[in-house]
Amino acid sequence: MITKKAKFLRVLNNVYFKKNEPVSIVHFLTNRCNARCSFCFIDFDDPNTFKNELDLDEIDKLTKNLGSSLLNVNLTGGEPFARKDIEEIAKLYIKNTTVQSIYVTTNASLPDRVENFAKNIINYDKNIELTFQISIDDMPQEHDRVRKISNLFQNCLDTYQRLKKIDPRVNPVVSITVNHENCENIQKIFEYLTNECEVESIKCTIVRDEGVYKTPDKKKKKIFEAYSWLTNKINELQKEGKLNNYNTNSLQGKLHNQKDKISWELIKKMYLEPKYISPCHAGSLFGIITAKGLVYPCEILEEKIIGDLRKNDMDFMKIWKGSIAKKTKEFILKTNCNCSYECALTYNILGNWRYQPSLLSSIIKY
Ligand code: SF4
Ligand code: SF4
Repeated sequence: MITKKAKFLRVLNNVYFKKNEPVSIVHFLTNRCNARCSFCFIDFDDPNTFKNELDLDEIDKLTKNLGSSLLNVNLTGGEPFARKDIEEIAKLYIKNTTVQSIYVTTNASLPDRVENFAKNIINYDKNIELTFQISIDDMPQEHDRVRKISNLFQNCLDTYQRLKKIDPRVNPVVSITVNHENCENIQKIFEYLTNECEVESIKCTIVRDEGVYKTPDKKKKKIFEAYSWLTNKINELQKEGKLNNYNTNSLQGKLHNQKDKISWELIKKMYLEPKYISPCHAGSLFGIITAKGLVYPCEILEEKIIGDLRKNDMDFMKIWKGSIAKKTKEFILKTNCNCSYECALTYNILGNWRYQPSLLSSIIKY
């Protein structure tokens, strides 16, 4: 799970004790997107939304200052493939940091670009693992209507199938966000994807309030029920071997599989009646970089900016270990901050002693 680049003991010391370097970051490469989903958090009406993206030289500097524990980066947006230099950006992360895996979240509207990217990146580094989260939320017509791109559903399937053929290190996963538009249709969508489209890797998330998006209150119960049904179904089909979200022969695969189950159960406990269950390590093990170079602990605490990379000579660790970051971490822990944000939950589970027996038993059980 941990490469020679990121030293094993240093990472463990950071994850379980020091908690002062990020293990994973989400980097929003751009706010540009060719889709216009009704549940998107981006304010597409504000012309400033698209200005002042970090350029390659800035990202080069940034990636040289990300500590020695970084295992994963999630390149996202907007639509990350709207940036024609996404390949160069991924290569900078590989060259300058200790990442061993790159996640790319995409609406998959540009299959050629995605496929070329995947081929070039795995040829660039023989160890890197690539996961593509391809967003599909509805039946074909509805998916294209909600995202406002014609033929998008077909392009998603095309992208998925092309990526599957490249290399075992390239892992395409269809990601369903359960939201107010699709919550009454989840069973039909899932069965269509698994039976008709032969999709073998499906994950799901639950829509969250963020940016300009607010979940309609009257839909919350339906969203919760749909999410519960879907997570149970994914679990069931994984056990039967009909879905293969992870390679359950590998240690990493087993851990991720169990982590997903823990995460789903936590979200179900917190979604309708938000409550604190365990500490959040956003701002410690996990963080966010926006397209304009602002650093946050997570996507939810929009008022808790930790720093501006451009005002700090692109030195991420200077910001991460600075006084504002320290106060932010204290705030998160003291207020028992809680939410259903899956990306942060992943590292909260992996970095919390409470969940280690369950994670360890999954390794032995399989
Ligand atoms: S594809 Fe993603 S970034 Fe683009 S509009 Fe939809 S939710 Fe927003
Ligand atoms: S609990 Fe949620 S809102 Fe609070 S810091 Fe963690 S990810 Fe952010």
